[in-house]
Amino acid sequence: MQSAGEQLKKVRWVELHFVDVAGHLRSVAVPSREVDDKAFKQGLNLLDGSSVEGFAGIHESDYRLRPDPSTFAVIPWAKDTGRMISDVYSTEGRFPKDPRYIADRAMEYLASQGLEAYFGPEVEFMLVDGLFLDVETPTKGLGYRVVSREYMDYEEELGFQRTKKAYHTPSPIDKVAAVRYEIASVLEDYFGFRVESHHHEVAALGQVEIDFRFGDLKTTADRVVTLKYVARNVAAKHGMAATFMPKLVAGDNGNGMHVHVSLWDRSSGRNLFYDPSDEYAELSQTARYFIGGILEHGRALAAIVAPTVNSYRRLVPGYEAPVYLVWGKANRSAAIRIPFYEKGVEKAKRIEFRSPDPTANPYLAFAAILAAGLDGIKKKIEPGDPVDRNVYEMGEEERRRLGIKQLPRSLDEALDELESDNEFLKPIFTRDILEAYIDVKRREAMELRQYPNPVEVYMYFNL
Ligand code: GLN
Ligand code: MG
Ligand code: MG
Ligand code: MG
Repeated sequence: MQSAGEQLKKVRWVELHFVDVAGHLRSVAVPSREVDDKAFKQGLNLLDGSSVEGFAGIHESDYRLRPDPSTFAVIPWAKDTGRMISDVYSTEGRFPKDPRYIADRAMEYLASQGLEAYFGPEVEFMLVDGLFLDVETPTKGLGYRVVSREYMDYEEELGFQRTKKAYHTPSPIDKVAAVRYEIASVLEDYFGFRVESHHHEVAALGQVEIDFRFGDLKTTADRVVTLKYVARNVAAKHGMAATFMPKLVAGDNGNGMHVHVSLWDRSSGRNLFYDPSDEYAELSQTARYFIGGILEHGRALAAIVAPTVNSYRRLVPGYEAPVYLVWGKANRSAAIRIPFYEKGVEKAKRIEFRSPDPTANPYLAFAAILAAGLDGIKKKIEPGDPVDRNVYEMGEEERRRLGIKQLPRSLDEALDELESDNEFLKPIFTRDILEAYIDVKRREAMELRQYPNPVEVYMYFNL
């Protein structure tokens, strides 16, 4: 391994990266000579916090960016340029609204309890080359389309469906395969990823997924940010765009970011979720409490893991996205699934939480999932019986009898929940970031509420 100083000599410019409260990537470039020992110790005075969404506050003015040398990478599409993810500092120390600080606090909280957690996200997104609203040639160009109500009627009339059929489609039917390969290669060759697999996803031409090896909370959140940055830049090189919007196309699958989590004991090195004596899924009581915590706080959690107005267009029945707060083994309508294909393998035992989507700020999302799960362990919250039936197909009456809770139906509903249920976040989240987050998201919901959308016009124009 080369030291950060040696690596820096290879580039002329360094982009310092951080994310704002909502999770937008921000970047400022400095000459590499500026990134000296002092910069690593104290940070560089670069940031005007009042211009970064959610960062401003009455008493704050000066911010510094302190690059993290372990995140140095050469950017292959830019000349002589590297990047480093940075921590944000104010005059008083770590800035309480820096999402990466929340990840550090989550890691410290884990360590203080002698625990370790691993996170493995499955990031889904779409590679698109333009916007088409075209009923006759719905897969023109590189395949991106908006399915209209007319088109769905037309599919029904013809008796076939083009939506939801593209899972594991090979090239040349998959027109975006080459771009996906390039993204995966850049992640491995330049950004230190270990890609485990990548494939075309279920949604009609253009939906992809790239899975990489699990890691600790902070490293994995950094990687989600990096993956999105790389996907966007590689796509742009090909005259395309990568979008992580949870629901881009009505009538087809949306983009999720399922999150796999396991919890380990530091001193014994054992996976605390594994119990071979459990017949249902080799799942320990600790794992059950962890699941209980996520389900218990699942409605409030939604505001952080499914954080956009658009997220709630994904969380509807019929598209492999969860709608109900239940858990099960092979159940894709459940919010939590227990992957069970590696029987008897301790290190593979984990839970898969399916509510999250890739618009989530990964530092906050992983920290909140952990906080909910640990709260479940602390309070011994039972998750109830697993449900291995399709919950989409149950009647209202049956769901009520089983006490099955539903996910919020809108961002505002989720934010209402987060406002009344956030004690569980307190050991990890700062008050400042929670307030800033709710404020940013309320404003986002309010802004969108003011725009009539095209389908609304279709439905109400003649009423
Ligand atoms: N795209 C689905 C979701 O929104 C997941 C589909 C899958 O991974 N098989 O969560
Ligand atoms: Mg997957
Ligand atoms: Mg998938
Ligand atoms: Mg999955």
